[in-house]
Amino acid sequence: MLERSVGLSELPRLADLLATTAGLLAVRLEGWRDDEGKSWLQLDIAGEPVLSCQRCLGGVKFPLSIRSRLQLIGPGEDWPDDDLVDDEADAIDAEKALAVLSLIEDEVLLALPIAPRHEQCESPSANASELGSSPFAALAAFKKH
Ligand SMILES: [Zn+2]
Repeated sequence: MLERSVGLSELPRLADLLATTAGLLAVRLEGWRDDEGKSWLQLDIAGEPVLSCQRCLGGVKFPLSIRSRLQLIGPGEDWPDDDLVDDEADAIDAEKALAVLSLIEDEVLLALPIAPRHEQCESPSANASELGSSPFAALAAFKKH
């Protein structure tokens, strides 16, 4: 079993979709061989990447909690018949599984919404007035000392 943190900045395809690449994903990998000699990999990914809202372009936190189970197919092994594979599992090339970061990135990309949005965006005018007043607020706070 392997546990590590993966920086969002280590995942370039994912980073393109994020409002910020600051942050980490907690990843846990576990591999085993079953009674029939099949190899399996279980991948748990948790984190809270920040996507860009498609309406207001502000950051939207997207809590991730992914568990995926993959059957590893080695060279010369038969690929499972699609009809026989249970829906919870995907089969992948064992050599591809070695590229763990890319595998993690694939799973996260699949889990992300296509068009992330705030349930309720802050209105742009509220943002503008907040920005406009902040230097004065800072000044007022400064004067108190
Ligand atoms: Zn928004």
